[in-house]
Amino acid sequence: MRILKFGGTSVGDAASIRTVAQIVGREAPHRPLVVLSATGDSTDRLAEIGRLAAKGRLFESLSVVEALESAHRRLCGALLDGSPHRVPVEAFFDEAFFSLRAVARGLDAVRDFSPAVQDRLLSLGELLSTRLIAEVLAGAGLPVEWVDIREVVVTDEAHTCAEPLAEETARRCGEILRPLVESGRIPVTQGFIARSVSGAPTTLGRGGSDYTASLLGAALGAEEVQIWTDVDGVMTADPSLVPGARSIPVMGFEEAAELAFFGARVLHPRSLQPAVERGIPVRVLNTRNPEGTGTLVLAEAPANGAPVKSVAYKEGMTLVTLVSARMFHSQGFLARLFAALERAGAAPDLVATSEVSVAFALWEPARFEALATELRGFGRVEVREGQALVCVVGERLKSTPGIAAQVFEDLRDVRTSLISLGGSEINLSFVVDEQQLPVVVRRLHRRFFEAPEGQEVAG
Ligand code: ASP
Ligand code: MG
Repeated sequence: MRILKFGGTSVGDAASIRTVAQIVGREAPHRPLVVLSATGDSTDRLAEIGRLAAKGRLFESLSVVEALESAHRRLCGALLDGSPHRVPVEAFFDEAFFSLRAVARGLDAVRDFSPAVQDRLLSLGELLSTRLIAEVLAGAGLPVEWVDIREVVVTDEAHTCAEPLAEETARRCGEILRPLVESGRIPVTQGFIARSVSGAPTTLGRGGSDYTASLLGAALGAEEVQIWTDVDGVMTADPSLVPGARSIPVMGFEEAAELAFFGARVLHPRSLQPAVERGIPVRVLNTRNPEGTGTLVLAEAPANGAPVKSVAYKEGMTLVTLVSARMFHSQGFLARLFAALERAGAAPDLVATSEVSVAFALWEPARFEALATELRGFGRVEVREGQALVCVVGERLKSTPGIAAQVFEDLRDVRTSLISLGGSEINLSFVVDEQQLPVVVRRLHRRFFEAPEGQEVAG
C-alpha cells in the first residue's frame, strides 16, 4: 500500500483537485490511502476568523467566514455540478458553516482564543476539504471511504503542537485503516488533526499533514509515502536564484533535514522521521507535473550519490565578532557567553572561535540591543548586518578529499567569513555579504551541477 498526501496548494482549486483524482485513480492498483490538507489557505483564514472574533471584531471575522464559505461552495459547484454527490457535501457545508458562525460569535462573547479552541476551529479546514474531495473521488468511480482521522491519531494534550502517541495510534491504524485498505477500499482522511487521550480535538502543528502521512505510513508499513506538493521535489538550489536548478532524484534523510532548516520548506525533518525510521521511502512529487519523478528521501543517501546535493542559503544573518583578551587561556568563557546568548533569546547558527575571539552568525535576532549590551560586558563587539549564510549540503562531503578547495575555487574574489566544515559532517557553511549571494550560489551551482569536473567557472 501507499500513502498519498496532497497539500493545500494541490487541492486549492478545481483543476488541481481534478488532477488529484487522476493521480489517485492511477495509483489505485497500489492500494492507496489518501491524506489531505485543508484547501489553499483555509487554515490561515480559520485562524484569522478566531483571532478577529476574540478581539471583538466580529463583523470582520464573519466576513472571512463568508469568503471561506463561498470559496468552498464554488469549488463544490465546479466539481460536482449536476452530480448526486453534491448533495451530502452541501449538507455538510450547511452544518459546518452554521457552527463556524456560532463559534465566531462565542469567541466574540468570551474574548478568549485559547489553544484548545484554536485546535477545534482549525480542524474544520481538513474536515471540509476531505468531505468535498472524497465525494469528488467517489464521483470519479473510485471506491473511497471517508475516515475521521481523529478516531485514529491519538495525541497528548499539547494543543496546537500535539505529539501523537505512537503505539495507540498504530493500534488504531491496524483496527480501522488496515481492514479498509485490505478490502480494496481507498480511505480518504485528514492530515494535521487528531484527538487527545481525553478526547479533545488537537492539531500536530502548522504544516502537520506531512507528519500524519508519515505516521500512518510507518504504522501501516506502507511501501512508500508520497508527499504531493507544488514543486518538483527538493531542488539543487533555489530556482529563483539559479535558473538551472533541478530536482534532486535521491537524497538521505540527514541531507533533507539540513536543507529543511535552510528554507527547503518542502519537507520538515520531524514529518519525515516516523517513515524514514521504519525504512519507508518518502517521495516528494509535484501535482502540477504529475509525470515527474520528484525527490526520493531514504534513510541513508545512496552510496553512488554526488558529494554535493544542494546549495542552500539563508539571508538576514547578522555576524557578530567578540574580541576579548580575557578569553585567553580562560576556562568557562564560552559557557558564560552562550548563557548570555540564551538570556537574549539568540541561537547562533554558526560559530567559530580563536584564542581571543569568537564569531557567530545569528538569524534576525529579535532582542538585538539586549544582546549587544550583554556582549559588551565581555569585550569588544563588532556587528555586521546584511549577511547571508551559504550552505553546501551532501552526505558524501565528509569522505570527499579536497571538497573545501573545490567549494572555494570559484570564490577567490569573494569575501567569506566564518567558514565551517564539520559541525555537521554533511554541510560546509560560510557567511558572505547578502549582495554577493546570487553570484556565490550561481557559481557553486555551476561547479557542482552544471560544469564538468575541475572546469573553471567564471562570473
Ligand atoms: N492545513 C494545515 C496547515 O495549513 C496542515 C497542512 O497543510 O499540512 O498548516
Ligand atoms: Mg495548509
